Amino acid sequence: MRVLISGGGIGGPVLAIALRRAGVDAQVFEAHDGPATALGSHLGLAPNGLSVLDTLGLLDTVTAAASFPSDRIEFRSGTGRLLGTLDDGSSRQGEGLRTITITRGLLQTALAGEAAARGVPVAYGRRLVSHTDTGRGVRVAFADGTTAEGDVLVGADGIHSPVRRAMDPGAPEPAYTGLLNMGGRLPRGALPDTPEGTTRMVFGRRAFLGYQTGSDGALWFVNLPHPDQAAADTPPAGGWKNHVRGLFADEQPHVAAALEQAEETAFTPLGVYDIASLPRWTRGRVALLGDAAHAMSSSSGQGASQALEDALVLAMCLRDVPDPAGALRAYERIRRDRVERVVAEGRRRSAGKLATGRVQVFLRDLFLPVAFRVISRFDQHAWVFGHRVDFTDTVRVPAER
Ligand SMILES: Cc1cc2nc3c(=O)[nH]c(=O)nc-3n(C[C@H](O)[C@H](O)[C@H](O)COP(=O)(O)OP(=O)(O)OC[C@H]3O[C@@H](n4cnc5c(N)ncnc54)[C@H](O)[C@@H]3O)c2cc1C
Repeated sequence: MRVLISGGGIGGPVLAIALRRAGVDAQVFEAHDGPATALGSHLGLAPNGLSVLDTLGLLDTVTAAASFPSDRIEFRSGTGRLLGTLDDGSSRQGEGLRTITITRGLLQTALAGEAAARGVPVAYGRRLVSHTDTGRGVRVAFADGTTAEGDVLVGADGIHSPVRRAMDPGAPEPAYTGLLNMGGRLPRGALPDTPEGTTRMVFGRRAFLGYQTGSDGALWFVNLPHPDQAAADTPPAGGWKNHVRGLFADEQPHVAAALEQAEETAFTPLGVYDIASLPRWTRGRVALLGDAAHAMSSSSGQGASQALEDALVLAMCLRDVPDPAGALRAYERIRRDRVERVVAEGRRRSAGKLATGRVQVFLRDLFLPVAFRVISRFDQHAWVFGHRVDFTDTVRVPAER
């Protein structure tokens, strides 16, 4: 069996590594010329995703790559009033599985390095433009005029997945959640220190801010309510950097001042999208994985972790189910319900960041401390964080619905 994987982001290389472990031949094709080290800001890896890395022997490399433990959140109003603190409970999930924040670039570099060290072929500069499922195999074509053949194609090609669009032209497009996201790094001392393992999140009057400091600087992000994603391509007068600094100038002047030191590129807004449910994740010998199948709001903190879970489950299905198309269907049936629940939770959290009117903000700041007190009594993440995929299990094909 030979598996072709389009997309060398997070899920693609990990699927290839898991397949190699399962004795299945796999090759990754990535459109960019190398691991996208400079693109994107940072993301969270939760215990359920970290445990996948652990299973594949990747955990130490990833956590060594300058990650921040971040299992506590301190919520504040725009004026700095403490609204509540939440412990995500990940420190109880097992040795080495405490939630971390890591820059996307470092994660990509670490995974690409591990793939190379294990002899997993990752071909860069190969943008897939079309595929054909012959019934007995798949043939793919790349923008550079080359082609490749295999038994199965996996589209691990992200939220705007070309494989998804070709596989199911009628599939719904990702929905804009009403938020723009941007973020980056700041030097040490630029922002007030946060307690160890703690992200400070600020419900500002006009935008939502998160930051965490560590020994080698701070990571920050801003979620900006914006009615029109397309308008994000047209920077406001004075540019995005000035605009964002202005949003916090009266409420968080020290943050507005600190953001002056941030690189201009950190203020490139990306729309936050999700896909609540796709009619299908697979067709014949073609399947989708990660954001391609189930993009979720960054507020879920689960985009990368769910892609990692997918990768392990799909590798097991391709290892254990003899018929390739049957293996892909089994993967979809095992994964779909859980993932869609995580997507819905992410959307709920995004919605909480959309308030901007004076009355809305007043009511929100009144209500949130009560909500945080109630939520903190429950292990609200247990169903997400406690999920484990046991690679030594044999996949039993779930019944068709
Ligand atoms: C540039 C970028 C920046 C991001 N920044 C953040 C962030 O700041 N915070 C956050 O929480 N999440 C971010 N994400 C999303 C997060 O990384 C994903 O939710 C998560 O890692 C799921 O990974 P994935 O492997 O499914 O998809 P991705 O990590 O998105 O990987 C998809 C890969 O497919 C490649 N690709 C696309 N089209 C083709 C094609 N035709 N042929 C070959 N390859 C193709 C892309 O170049 C990319 O490398 C970002 C994603 C990207 C691509």
